[in-house]
Amino acid sequence: MSATPNPPQANVRRDGGSTLCPHLQPGPCPWETELVIDDHLGPTESLVACRVCGRAYLLEMLDWSGTLRLFRVRAPAPDAVALLTRDLRRGSCDLRRAGEEIRHVSLTSDRVAELLLYDTSTTVLLERIALDSAADVPWAGWRELPCDSTWIARLRKRPDR
Ligand SMILES: [Zn+2]
Repeated sequence: MSATPNPPQANVRRDGGSTLCPHLQPGPCPWETELVIDDHLGPTESLVACRVCGRAYLLEMLDWSGTLRLFRVRAPAPDAVALLTRDLRRGSCDLRRAGEEIRHVSLTSDRVAELLLYDTSTTVLLERIALDSAADVPWAGWRELPCDSTWIARLRKRPDR
C-alpha cells in the first residue's frame, strides 16, 4: 500500500470528462450562435454559447436527416474561446490565421459524451442524448462522415426512448 496521497484531479479530462450545462434542455434553441464555422444548407460546425450561463460549446454535425441535425459537442476552455472571439471581433487575424485558431480551439477542447438533436426548420432542440462515452461516436469532420441518417435512426430506436 502506498502512503503517497492521490494527486489532485484535473477538473477537465480531454475525453468525455465535460458535461453540458443543465440549461441546454429540449425546447426553443437554448444557445446563441457566436460563429458559424462551416455550413451546408444550415450550420454544420458552429461556436455557440448557452443563453443562460454563457458557457461556450462547439457543435459539430455527426449526422442529418431532412431538417434534423445531430450534433456532437466539444467544450472549449473559456480562455481559448475568449481569445478566439476577441481576435475575430477585432478583425486582427487574416482568414488563414482565423482558421488555424478555430482548429486549435477545436483540438484542445474536451469531447462531451452527449449529442444534441436539433431541428433547423423550427430551431428547436429536440433531444439531448447521453452516450456511455465520447468514444462511442466518430470525431472526424462531417465531410468525412457518411451523414446518411444512420445515427439518427439508431439513436431514436433505442429501447429507452
Ligand atoms: Zn448554461
